[in-house]
Amino acid sequence: MITITGKGVSNGVAFGPLYFYHRASGEVARCTDADPAVELERFETARKTAMEQLGALYQKAMDEVGEEAAILFETHQMMLDDADYVESVQGLIEGDHLNAEAAVSDTAEQFAEMFANMDDTYMQARAADVKDVSSRVVGILSGVVQGGIDSDVPVILAADDLAPSETVQLDKSKILGFVTAGGSGNSHTAILARTMGIPAIIGVGDQLKAEFAGKEIFVDGQTGEVVIDANDATRDRLTHKQSKERALKELLDQLKGKPNETVDGKSVMVYCNIGNPDDIDAVLANDGGGIGLFRSEFLYLQGNDYPTEEEQFIAYKTVAERMGGKRVIIRTLDIGADKQADYFGLDHEENPAMGLRAIRICLTRPEIFKSQLRALYRASAYGKIAIMFPMITSVWEVQEIKRICKNVREELAAEGVAMADYVELGIMIETPSAVMMSDRLAKEVDFFSVGTNDLTQYTLAVDRQGNNLDKFYDSHHPAVLRMLKMAADNAHAAGIWIGICGELGADTSLTETFLALGIDELSVSPSAVLPLRNAIRSLDSRTNRDKILDELLSC
Ligand code: PEP
Ligand code: MG
Repeated sequence: MITITGKGVSNGVAFGPLYFYHRASGEVARCTDADPAVELERFETARKTAMEQLGALYQKAMDEVGEEAAILFETHQMMLDDADYVESVQGLIEGDHLNAEAAVSDTAEQFAEMFANMDDTYMQARAADVKDVSSRVVGILSGVVQGGIDSDVPVILAADDLAPSETVQLDKSKILGFVTAGGSGNSHTAILARTMGIPAIIGVGDQLKAEFAGKEIFVDGQTGEVVIDANDATRDRLTHKQSKERALKELLDQLKGKPNETVDGKSVMVYCNIGNPDDIDAVLANDGGGIGLFRSEFLYLQGNDYPTEEEQFIAYKTVAERMGGKRVIIRTLDIGADKQADYFGLDHEENPAMGLRAIRICLTRPEIFKSQLRALYRASAYGKIAIMFPMITSVWEVQEIKRICKNVREELAAEGVAMADYVELGIMIETPSAVMMSDRLAKEVDFFSVGTNDLTQYTLAVDRQGNNLDKFYDSHHPAVLRMLKMAADNAHAAGIWIGICGELGADTSLTETFLALGIDELSVSPSAVLPLRNAIRSLDSRTNRDKILDELLSC
């Protein structure tokens, strides 16, 4: 038995086979004396697998984002079925004795160059597609799986760390738990795990060896324990703990349908954070009262090009409709810093967290912003959509945003497009500047939502992604809590509500403090809704209110 310890960032015990996430290296194996018969067959099998994958992706895109997005996968299927393409690959295998990977890769280069040199802009754009679909085939040939997991059974997924663009593409039905070498509690792998309600352990370093692949391992997301080849006693202990967790979950399930109300009758809105329309299943299953943060980046991170207005509209409409009139707060694009999409062509920055990210991109590239706003206002006709803007630091930014929103509304109205009569506009309070200006900002918007992940990072000057900074990244720091108080007081003075959508919102050791500060809404991972409801319902907000506020000011 081998025990490894990391940091638990999403609770729960799980066990299953260990699977290492495979990432394409970008290098294509090349051999010039391969056996043509073998390579032809390998190519044909990989081509068929790719066709099947594309068929499944077409269906998934149709269900989730609509036909316009799905067509991409149909185009890729047509390319793989194209006689010239197939003959070119076969020719290189038979004539030059190339291995299948190299033959596909060379064909992709030739076809991409041919497309790029055409006059028609539509055909020029196909250069990227032929490369994309060919790299899928090369990936299959070299054992790299799109979506990361090539297993028939669900696994414990191990990786060094996962980029946001990788997490959005994972086949989530195959994951029982996560173990990462690096990462931080605020990394998107950790956030994804909490959304899915599965255990996750980060920071195990190089303790997880390649030879453990396929072995059955236990993970305990509460203690950070990873056990390989567990002995009987450990197996019993952890399976017993898992049964206890299940029993607790059943107890918490009984809170479904009950109000988030304290003993003294104070109620708090408990909403959910999601990153994908698929997450709505978990929101409904956990009785979330609304969506407090829909990280719209997923639309931008999952593809190789900007999502169209239509694709976005369908995604937002789906979420609004599925939430059946409950408030759905959609945050506009928050790309940059740790969330990178190559096609944005952003310059390399020395300090990306302080660089061109989030609203700064939207205000410098208004065409991207306008397309998202058009989609949001169009979707507002189908539910209770509110729009929220990230990384605000200045009043002028909000005034500029409101001017753009007004233009978009007028444009859509002139086109005769249906929209909600009123769409609430809110901002994220996630920079110290936004807190200090919150009296002025509160007069401009309908609500505040505090992003404690970034607010902690910027207040304490500690990188939220930093591997060895946990000791310094302290969301309970009085500086952060005082900031919360200031923003809450200013929100209430202006008559607007304030919520928390950072990870701190789910920390039940602070629920009483949040109540004392008058926080109106907490937006948490779906799996945290019922534990939070339980905490709220067992509190009397009057008991320690004065003491908590005094301590906050005197500490
Ligand atoms: C935050 O910063 O707290 C937040 C909710 O946004 P994100 O984690 O997506 O940056
Ligand atoms: Mg943030």
